[in-house]
Amino acid sequence: MDRKSNSTTKGGHSIVRILGSPVNSLTLEETVQALGSAWAEDRQRVAHVVTANAEMLYQSSKDKELAEIIEAAEIVTADGAGVVLASRILGSPVPERVAGFDLMVECLKEASRTSVPIYFLGAEPHILNKAVANARELFPGLNVVGSHHGYFRDGEDESILDEIYSLKPCLLLAAMGVPRQEKWIYRNKKKLPPCVAMGVGGSFDVLAGKSRRAPLWMQRAGLEWFYRVIKEPYRLGRTAVLPAFLFAVLNQAAHRK
Ligand code: UDP
Repeated sequence: MDRKSNSTTKGGHSIVRILGSPVNSLTLEETVQALGSAWAEDRQRVAHVVTANAEMLYQSSKDKELAEIIEAAEIVTADGAGVVLASRILGSPVPERVAGFDLMVECLKEASRTSVPIYFLGAEPHILNKAVANARELFPGLNVVGSHHGYFRDGEDESILDEIYSLKPCLLLAAMGVPRQEKWIYRNKKKLPPCVAMGVGGSFDVLAGKSRRAPLWMQRAGLEWFYRVIKEPYRLGRTAVLPAFLFAVLNQAAHRK
């Protein structure tokens, strides 16, 4: 590891360590390429993709299981302006933000081109159905082999896992919020078929038209978090960890010198 810049490599990819967690230094295009080859290969295991925002990285510095999950993940993307800023502060800037929704859309595009089997897991039943219908309309040729809403009890896990296993998707999109989706994938890795399994948060809500993304200028200015707080004020509490996250990153940078 380059102690001055916090950058190192993991699984053949360059990463930056932010509050102890690895974040891949990849563009959106490079991430899709890496995932495309992962699901094209004859894989033996689940490749877990975590789209990490500042809130999740801060949470992982307090939640041991979440930290373990991020450490074990095959790919961790820099999902948010706060994470991109942190990588700059630490002297190892990631090339760009790779937001969960953008990654999901690009993966759907790529998967529709090659008819890769996909499973949608998460969101409320009617939102899930609308998200699948819209995805099929947006990406003709999309091979959705199954779906299940995200409001199931612990005891219902087994039948959902059996269904996913029998349908053998190459791409599993899990939209049940952070950290539920990450913990669910991690805890069930051995019961899932070999696939790329990705937590995509509220992305089915956006795909279904229930919620909207910030205008492009706000996304580019790193203000998407602000837009979401205005639209969904209950998020204010969650966003309040941002200053603590930046303070912890500055502390990490100071101790590096
Ligand atoms: N959700 C779910 N099961 C749950 C809790 C939430 O499927 O037990 C869904 C919820 O309907 C929404 C998504 O998970 O579609 C969470 O969206 P949010 O924007 O809160 O995601 P985050 O910010 O945590 O990534």
